[in-house]
Amino acid sequence: MVPKLSGVASKVNDAELEQLLFDLLRIPSVNPKFKTGDEPAETQIVEFLDKKMMDYGFEVERQVVESGGWNLIARIRGDGPKTLVFNGHIDTVTGANMPDAFNPKIKHGKLYGRGASDMKGGIAAMIEAAKAVKTSGVKLNGDLVLSLVVDEEYGGTGTQKFLEKEKPDYAIIGEPTQNEIGLAQAGYIEFTLESEGTIQHGSTLKIGDNSSAYINATKILNGILELPTVRKVRHYLDVEMPNTVNFCPVDQRIFTSQAWMTVDYYKVNVLIGVAPGRTVAESDRIIEDTLEEMEVLVDNTNKAGQRNKLNYETGVPPYKKHGFIQPKNDFAKKFEQAVDQTQGGHRYAYVLSFCDGTFFYDKGIPTLTYGPGTMELGHSSNEYVDLNEVKEAARTYAQAIENILGTEVL
Ligand SMILES: [Zn+2]
Repeated sequence: MVPKLSGVASKVNDAELEQLLFDLLRIPSVNPKFKTGDEPAETQIVEFLDKKMMDYGFEVERQVVESGGWNLIARIRGDGPKTLVFNGHIDTVTGANMPDAFNPKIKHGKLYGRGASDMKGGIAAMIEAAKAVKTSGVKLNGDLVLSLVVDEEYGGTGTQKFLEKEKPDYAIIGEPTQNEIGLAQAGYIEFTLESEGTIQHGSTLKIGDNSSAYINATKILNGILELPTVRKVRHYLDVEMPNTVNFCPVDQRIFTSQAWMTVDYYKVNVLIGVAPGRTVAESDRIIEDTLEEMEVLVDNTNKAGQRNKLNYETGVPPYKKHGFIQPKNDFAKKFEQAVDQTQGGHRYAYVLSFCDGTFFYDKGIPTLTYGPGTMELGHSSNEYVDLNEVKEAARTYAQAIENILGTEVL
């Protein structure tokens, strides 16, 4: 069903939105932690957005983030005390693994480029939605704030800095959900597994020997995949919420594949995406239970003569963080209503990757994730966003602003 649009949603300028997204994709804004070669950091995109949003008539300020760069905070003032925030990160991961990463191209209605899905599509949509609201003459009974932050892809310092200054009442995170309503977001556990063995002739390794660090590590990794807390799938409304697991080998002290020798040292990074519980306390407990199960697993293999160690001090601190489930309160219902108005129906989504939403949720701020694109395409060598989805997201954002900030048409 294609809904008939009215009000602010119909005021979004599609051509301008497409142009803005093109412009954003042409400016590399690779997080310095992912930087390779000559890709410039986030400075240039801040300059561009600062000017663009000033031209649109927003109040714009730059906020220094000590770890590097600036957040851009753009505001449209309303008459009431409530503040609605749209949050988006302006950094991306590297473009080195993507051909033409910063030379965006349209093919069959899809716009290809680094950051198209994660998450310049969402940023372009929220800026044009805010502009549509501003130019429509709709009166806002509260402030509308766009927080365009640095450093989501590494430490999340941009959003944490923003929340030191601002105390919003509601937050919408524009990360890609294919325009489904992200009511829940995973947390994570990140650690390194190190395994030690001894070097011996590869053809003398009997099944069950503990000499190969590699074989010992794989036993632990297989054990992690079988842990009850890791296999458990949680549900909320119609949404299925599985955990996710990724293993990434980093070091093995043998430089060529040499099956005639055993591996005496093996190191692998592990990321477990942990589905949240209904409350923050329950989400924390799920993480603690998972950690405890892993410790027991490692203890048991070590009692059997292996030498394995879990190291939580590597990677991005902190090594664990819970996710959240946003209950369907009035804010969520009003957003859902906006999606129904502009998309003719709604679906709920579970956001698999940890993102800035948790920082808002931890401050007691009702938080939803909604944006064009998919998380799987983000960071991929084939990243794109469907332009129709970006336009639809902009209309939904505009409608949501009207619904949530209690507007009346002048
Ligand atoms: Zn993202």
